[in-house]
Amino acid sequence: RAKRDGRGVFRFFEEALDIAARQRRQLELDLREALMTGQFRLNFQPIYNLKADRVGGFEALLRWNHPIRGEVSPVQFIPVAEETGLIMGIGEWVFHEACRVAAGWPDHVRIAINVSPIQFRSPGFLAIVLQALSRSGLPPARLEIEITESVFLDGEDNVLNMLHQLRAMGVRVALDDFGTGYSSLSYLRSFPFDKIKIDRSFITGVAADPSSAAIVRAIVDLAAALHMEITAEGVEDDSQLACLRGEGCDNIQGYLFSRPVEIAAIQQLLPAKLAYAA
Ligand code: C2E
Ligand code: MG
Ligand code: MG
Ligand code: MG
Repeated sequence: RAKRDGRGVFRFFEEALDIAARQRRQLELDLREALMTGQFRLNFQPIYNLKADRVGGFEALLRWNHPIRGEVSPVQFIPVAEETGLIMGIGEWVFHEACRVAAGWPDHVRIAINVSPIQFRSPGFLAIVLQALSRSGLPPARLEIEITESVFLDGEDNVLNMLHQLRAMGVRVALDDFGTGYSSLSYLRSFPFDKIKIDRSFITGVAADPSSAAIVRAIVDLAAALHMEITAEGVEDDSQLACLRGEGCDNIQGYLFSRPVEIAAIQQLLPAKLAYAA
């Protein structure tokens, strides 16, 4: 009896694994199709410069409208795209599309593009950046590349080399989701980032929780000492904004100022001002 139950449980897991594997395989096929038939698009979320009191840039965020499943989150499909190598083609499309859109903006407005570790570490990456810049006419200084700490997991040498090459071209590099990795501080010591984006998990509690506030203060001070700019991610309300202003944070990004928007809504956001929080 016990034996039979055991076998049944095993059978259950076997079938569950089989279903998961098939769903993944289907997602892979769908992603390939999506890239070929133009199902991807970009949304743009403004990054508000508190010091200049104006929109200083937009982050490009990938969107996928699946013909049957509807909108699928990048949190779900990017990992599959990375495992299957499709991230290379998708990432290249993102560069061209984002630079094309950004080329029409005023001079002080930057475009921030998320780059997967796999793409960043690939030999052809620099060529893709150069091509997207030359084809769009976007000045390199208006491009900011966002990478996360996971880029260091497979070794640091190539990463440092790539950072130097990008910066030599005038392209800026931001460390995204700061504080969520294993050794954020040691990377800051050796790598010349232009900007740190404080992860939303620290911003959520910044107004109510003294520990979150202390961590945010420490990161802002650290960035100032290292001559790096700061953006706070996921700013949703006035109390968070007031704290971040108080700490001297350079930029905020989040639903408080604007959600990510479609291309057609960018123009009206360009001159928008953030209401002052008491
Ligand atoms: P991320 O780069 O850290 O982007 C910020 C995420 O936070 C976005 O989610 C954005 O919509 C969301 N967000 C912005 N403000 C708020 C807020 O006030 N509250 C809350 N709760 N969320 C906010 P999204 O668009 O779902 O993207 C998730 C992640 O997917 C991104 O995190 C990034 O890691 C990845 N991703 C998005 N687009 C691309 C892309 O083109 N290439 C690559 N490689 N990864 C991408
Ligand atoms: Mg990002
Ligand atoms: Mg982030
Ligand atoms: Mg993220």
